[in-house]
This record gives sequence, C-alpha cells and structure tokens, in this order.
Amino acid sequence: MAIRILPPDVARRIAAGEVIERPASVVKELIENALDAGARQITIEARAGGLGLLRVADDGSGIPSAEVELAFERYATSKLACVDDLATITTLGFRGEALASIAAVSRVTLYTRWRGEELGTQLELEAGQVMLRKPWAGAPGTTILVRDLFFNVPARLKFLRSPTGEAGLIGHVVEQIALARPDIRFRFLNEGRPTLETPGSGTLRDVLRRIHGSAVADALVDLDEVAETCQLRLHGLVSPPAITRANRSGMAFFINRRWISRTPLGAVVEEAYRPALPPGRHPIAVLHLELPPAEVDCNVHPAKAEVRLRNERLVHAAVHRAVRTALLQVAPLPEVGAPLVPTGWGKGRAVPVFPPVGHVVPGGTDRVFSRKPVVEMEDPGAAVAPSTEAPVAGAGRPVFRPTALRPVGQVQNTYIVAEGADGVYFIDQHTAHERILYEELLAGRSRPDPPSQALLAPVVVALSAHQRAVLAEQGEALRRLGFAFEEFGPDAVALRAVPPRLAGADLARAFRDAVDALGGDPVGPDGTDRLLATLACHAAVRAGDPLTAEEIASLLARLEETDVSRYCPHGRPIVVHLPVAQLERDFHRR
Ligand code: ADP
Ligand code: MG
Repeated sequence: MAIRILPPDVARRIAAGEVIERPASVVKELIENALDAGARQITIEARAGGLGLLRVADDGSGIPSAEVELAFERYATSKLACVDDLATITTLGFRGEALASIAAVSRVTLYTRWRGEELGTQLELEAGQVMLRKPWAGAPGTTILVRDLFFNVPARLKFLRSPTGEAGLIGHVVEQIALARPDIRFRFLNEGRPTLETPGSGTLRDVLRRIHGSAVADALVDLDEVAETCQLRLHGLVSPPAITRANRSGMAFFINRRWISRTPLGAVVEEAYRPALPPGRHPIAVLHLELPPAEVDCNVHPAKAEVRLRNERLVHAAVHRAVRTALLQVAPLPEVGAPLVPTGWGKGRAVPVFPPVGHVVPGGTDRVFSRKPVVEMEDPGAAVAPSTEAPVAGAGRPVFRPTALRPVGQVQNTYIVAEGADGVYFIDQHTAHERILYEELLAGRSRPDPPSQALLAPVVVALSAHQRAVLAEQGEALRRLGFAFEEFGPDAVALRAVPPRLAGADLARAFRDAVDALGGDPVGPDGTDRLLATLACHAAVRAGDPLTAEEIASLLARLEETDVSRYCPHGRPIVVHLPVAQLERDFHRR
C-alpha cells in the first residue's frame, strides 16, 4: 500500500484512543478538568458502565461563551502558554487533548456558564462535530454529558469489561481522585444509586472512612515526614501490618495531588512492611508526595498515569524510611535475626525441601561449625547454602511420612512438634492445614454441585464499589465453590450459604478477601488459584490455636493424604526438620 496521510477524522479517532481507553478514563479527564476549574463539589453519574451515559457536573469557573467551541479543539488549553510552562505545571491538564478526544468518540452535550457572564451556553457535538449551540440559563459551573461512548469505534468495545466491571473501574477512579482531594466533595452515582460520597472536610481519613469503613480507617497510622535531601514532604496513612488486603487496590499514590496509577512506589512500601506482611497480602497505604514542580516530569504518559522524578532513588528511600518509622510506632516488626530455617527458605516454591538445618544458620555459623573447622574445609559442600534449585533426589534426604511421626506436642500453640526416626520435625499448623484445605478445595472444584452449608442467619457483608463490580462479573466462581449470596441494599450482600470447610471462620472477612482475590490484578497464574488459597487460609486453624492430641493426629493423617509439596499455597514452608546429627553436633556428642 502506498503511504498516505490519514484523513483528519480517522487520525482523530486513533489519537483519542491514547487518552480515552475506557469509560473510566473519560471520568478521570472530566473530573480533572473540574478540579482545574476550581470546583468545590463534583458529581459523577454513570449508566451502563459509562457506555450509556456519563455525567460530570461541577461548580467551577465555567467556560466563557466565546471559548466553548475552542475547548473541543485539539491542543486547545487555557493552562499552558509556552513550552517552558511545562516545567512548572500545577494543573492536572495541560495538553488540551481530553475534550477533543472524548468528543471524537461519543455524543457530548456541554452546559456551561462562566462566572463573569449572565448567560451560559449549551453545545452538542457528535463525533467531534458541533450539531447545536444555544444559550443556556443555569448556575455558574460546567456539566458534561457523554453518551454512546465509542459508538464510532466498535473495535474498542471488544476490549471493555461488562458494564458492571466498567462501573467498578469508574468507582475506583472516583475513589482515587477523592483521596487526592479530601477538600473537595465528591458524589458518585451508579445507575442512580449513591455509591460514594465524600464530605470535603479536607481530612484524608474522612475519605478513607467512606471507602473502607470507619473501623479500618480509624486503625490506619498517620505519617508525616519531610526529607530535605530531595525536597520531599510526605504525608498520608498506612495500615498496621495486621490490616491487609488480598490485592493492591488499597494502595494509592499522589504526587502534587495528581494520582499516579503506575508507579514503583507500591513495591517500595511493601518492602518497608517486610517481614511483617503475610505472603500474598498487601497493605492499605495512601501517600501524598509533595515535590517542587521542577522535580517532577508529568509529560511522559498519554493518560498521565506515570510521572518521572528527578531524584527517584532519594524519594524512594525517603518513602521507605517514613513508612518503616510509622510502622515501628504501632508494631515492632519481627526481626530477621537468626532463624532456625536457612535464609532463602520461603521465598519461593522452588526451595529445597528439607535442607539440613545446620548448613546455613545466619549469624550462627561459628557456633555450629566451630568444633570442626577442619572438616568444613575438607568438605566445602557442607557449608554451601542450599541452592534455590530443587534438590537432587536421594542425597540422604529423609522421607517425610507424617503418620509415622510421634507427636510430642505444640510450641507456642503454633508449631506441632513431632519425633521421627531421623530427628525432630516442626510443623506449622496453620500452613499445613491451609495446604490440606487448598488441595481439598481444588479437588472439589470440578464437582457439579459443590458441598455447601446453609447459614442459620444470613451474614451481611459490606462491599466497596469495586468489590461489588468484581462480584457482579465473577460471582459465579464463588457460587461454584458453595457460596450462596444475594444483593442486600445498595452496598452489601447477604451470605446465605458457604463452603462447609469455612464454618467457624470470620465469614464476612473471608468473603471480602475472596472477592479481592478474584478481582486482583489479572496477571499471575490463575484467579481461581488465588481464590482457593485465600479460602484455605481463612478456613485453616490459626497460629495460636491450641490443638488436642486428636486434632494433631488428624492433621498429620490428612497431611499425609495430601500431595504434600511441603509448601502452603502462598509458598511458605510447612515443615522444618532438625536432624539427630545436628543435635549431636550441637551437644558435642560427635
Ligand atoms: P486541558 O485540560 O489539557 O487544558 P481539555 O481538553 O481537558 O484540555 O480542556 C480544554 C479546555 O477547556 C481547558 O483548558 C479549560 O479551559 C476548558 N475546560 C474544560 N473543562 C472545563 C470545566 N469543567 N470547567 C471550566 N473549563 C473547562
Ligand atoms: Mg483536561
């Protein structure tokens, strides 16, 4: 084909795709415009996942009548005069692309009245062409209606989720921007139902109350730090290690009040929680970073989801330090000190199964090997850290048969201690039980009618907008496991039946975590795998639960039946072995 310049309307639609990916991106751009216009109150409405109708109304400055058409031209902006302004940008918008892009792929009606004028304007556009303009008598401010989004780019529709799924994403965007601006009142109505309403009090915790409920919001820890080295002020709230989520949706980062959805800061924060964070769990963390505008480049991503920081390394270090300091105030983190288990254990699945305990004891090597340094030198293999590859079969590895063990008791109501012919075994009771349940759930999953236990009284579970969207889309996966539930009011469901193994668990928490597990990032092996792991975790006996001798025996028996890969579904070790030979060495018997 010969090279041709694309006709303008085709080029427009292609360019629009960079900024407007889905209904939630329209909402983000329209809210940002309202904020740039100085709005104090913003109302967002969605129908049919935003594909039927999106409406964003603000009480901001409005657009002067003479500039209304101009606002829909590409690269038309009131926020930037020359390229040098980019370096000091303080508004959320600056490219003048959003309104043009939205209008190119939908039917838009704009009602606006500029503060300085008596009369406002109504403008209607279809695929970017003005169809109607007339005077409009209304209060100062702007209301934009977007109908039939992507009606002229049907290919785009194929990449969208169901209407409920898209509505959930819109709700998520509104939540994030509400967290960015606690001083602004936000109201989000989905299908006419109030879904989020923030008070505009200026207090971050007040917004979090509306999103996570008061109990969680009140338990969050304040953080307020200044890092001179990188001219950073950091403030926000983080959860104590005991409050976690099964996905990362509770983490949000803002740089100069701009929500940054793609950022390595999530990993930086989680690193600060280590080792207090259970595997597969994520904290709630809402952090505002304030930096001089010249330290931040916002102009690196079409939808402005990323920014570039001039001193990224220093900023990350400061965030890490601040989170860690805040956590230490509420909960002393367990120290990595000198565990019985060699380092490298529990970091992944492909870790040796029963490495002899004495081989690598961080900080304890001297004590363990001091008596036979010569032997160690003669036999360098003895001091080598267990490789992270699966061990070679045979190699003197003990055969693990739980039922052949003689239970001795429990340590800390957490570890079962048992004796075998070749030494002592410590079994993490929670992790072991979790593994058993996981295997059982996995085996039962393909059954046509899953075992299900009706509840005497239904349990009401409050869900966030995002969780409801996940449930509407993927609730079937939960029904297939034996859950029965129905809508209960605008923001809750009533649980009527649960998988029998869950009896005794905190059902509301288990259900919420199950929904989060389903709705987590779509990457990774399998959503159901994550779901089963979550349920198994909730149904399992906890660390700290005292067990009877029968319970211990039954657990060991079931562990033997399970295809024990010796790791819990989260990838933690289940068993630690202390060989007799090691005891003999430690007691200087050999
Ligand atoms: P940008 O936000 O990058 O300037 P947009 O296409 O989003 O580009 O908007 C174009 C212009 O329209 C803005 O610069 C602003 O002057 C005006 N505008 C858009 N939305 C509003 C609003 N809600 N209130 C007042 N002015 C608005
Ligand atoms: Mg804009």
